[in-house]
Amino acid sequence: MTYDVLVAGASFAGLAVVQRVRGRVLLVDRHPVGTHQTSACAAPLLLLRAMGAEDAVQQVHRRIVLHTPWTTSIWPLEEPFCTFDYHTFCVLALRRTQVEFVQASVRGMEAKTVHTSAGAFRARLVADCTGWRAVLARAVDPGLPRRQWLGFGLETEAPYPFPEGLHFFFDPEVAPDGYAWAFPCGRTTRFGVLSYRGRTRVREALDRFVGRFGARPAGYHGGYLGAGVYDPVVGDVFVVGDAAGQCLPLTGEGIRPAVHAGWLVGELFQRVLEGRCTLRWARDRYRAYVASQRRRVGFLALATLLALHLPPRALALCIAGFSRPFLRHRFLVEYLATFGLPLSSGILEGRAGVAELADAVDSNSTGPKGRVGSTPTPGTRADSSVGEHVPYKDGVAGSSPAPPTR
Ligand SMILES: Cc1cc2nc3c(=O)[nH]c(=O)nc-3n(C[C@H](O)[C@H](O)[C@H](O)COP(=O)(O)OP(=O)(O)OC[C@H]3O[C@@H](n4cnc5c(N)ncnc54)[C@H](O)[C@@H]3O)c2cc1C
Repeated sequence: MTYDVLVAGASFAGLAVVQRVRGRVLLVDRHPVGTHQTSACAAPLLLLRAMGAEDAVQQVHRRIVLHTPWTTSIWPLEEPFCTFDYHTFCVLALRRTQVEFVQASVRGMEAKTVHTSAGAFRARLVADCTGWRAVLARAVDPGLPRRQWLGFGLETEAPYPFPEGLHFFFDPEVAPDGYAWAFPCGRTTRFGVLSYRGRTRVREALDRFVGRFGARPAGYHGGYLGAGVYDPVVGDVFVVGDAAGQCLPLTGEGIRPAVHAGWLVGELFQRVLEGRCTLRWARDRYRAYVASQRRRVGFLALATLLALHLPPRALALCIAGFSRPFLRHRFLVEYLATFGLPLSSGILEGRAGVAELADAVDSNSTGPKGRVGSTPTPGTRADSSVGEHVPYKDGVAGSSPAPPTR
C-alpha cells in the first residue's frame, strides 16, 4: 500500500507537518510520541495556541533577562513566550491530526520507499523531521548534517522557583563558548548550558551553575542543535526543523522555525495531493521560504562569532549597548522575523494558510529586485521575499496566483 505522505520524526517539525495535511498520512518515530524531551521548551504563547496545545503551558514570560558578570539587562517582550510540558504538547498536537503512527526506527530510503525497523513503507511525499541526525536526508546525501553547524546543549530541571522571565547568562566561568540559561516553569526551573562549538563535556559546568542557586540537578537531557540554513529539499525529501539546520544561531531557538517550516511543508503537500500544484512548484516554494531567511540567519551567525571571540567585558558592553530601547526593539523585530510568520494573522484561526500568505506576499509586493511579483514556475528560482514579516490582510489569500498543476 502507498501512503500519500510519510513523515519521519514526531516532534515539533513532524507534528507541524502532519497538522496541515490530510489523506493517508504515516508518522514514524523511534519513541512513543512526546516521551523524549531534548528541549528547554520555551516558545511563543501564540504558537502553542495555534498547535492546539495551550494546555501544555507551564508559565508565561513577558521578558528576557540577560545576565553578564557585570550587568543585568531586561528586554520586555511584546508577544509573550511560555515554557511548556513537552509530553502534553506533543499529545495535544497529535490529537489534532488523523494520522497513523508507527513506532519504528527509520533507517534510510530508496526512491519512494522508506526503510524502518518495522518494515518498508511507500509514500508519494516524504518529510524528514528526524532532528539534527537528518536520517533520510543523509540517506540521499551522506555529507549531511554539516557538522560545523552543530551546537550542543545540556539541561536539568530542578524544583526551584526562579523570578519570571527567560534568563540567559553570558558568563565565561559557566559557558566559555556559549551561554547558560534558567527558564522558570512554575514550581521548577530548567537550567542549561549551551556550547556553540558543540562541546559535549558541559555537565560539570551545569552542576556548578545549578549549585550557585542552591538547587540540585534532577536528571539530564539534551543534544545537538542543527543551525545553518542549507538546501531544505534533498532529492525528493522535504527536510524540516533541525534536520535542515533551521535552529537559529546565537539563541538556539529551534521550535518556532521547525513549526513554521513544518506548517508550510504540510500545506504544500496538501496542495500537491489535491492537484493544485506540481511537486516541483512545491519544492521551489519551500526553497524560496528558506532562502529568504538567509540574510537574518547570517546576521545571527555573525553575532554568534562575536559572542565567541569578544573578551567577556567587551561582550557585556555590547549586550548593554543593544539593550537601549531603540536597538533592542530593532533587534527583536528582526530576530522574530527570522523564520517568522505574523502569528496574530488569520493563520492561527485557520482563515489563512502559510502557503497562501507566501503567495499573497508574492502577488502584492514590488521588491527592489523587481522579481517579487512573480510566482515561481517549474524550472525558475522562486522569489526571495517569501517569509518576510509582512502584515497579513484578510482576504488577500483569496487573490493568490494559481500555481502550476502540471
Ligand atoms: C538542551 C536544549 C534546549 C533547547 N531549548 C530550546 C528552547 O527552549 N526553545 C526552542 O525554541 N528551542 C530549543 N532547543 C532547540 C530545539 O529543541 C530544536 O530546535 C527542536 O527540538 C527541533 O525540532 P525538530 O522536530 O526538528 O527535531 P527534534 O525535536 O530533535 O525531533 C526529532 C524527532 O525525530 C525522532 N527520530 C530521530 N531519529 C529517528 C529515527 N532514526 N527514526 C525515527 N525517528 C527518529 C526523534 O525521536 C524525535 O522525536 C533546545 C535544544 C537543546 C538541545
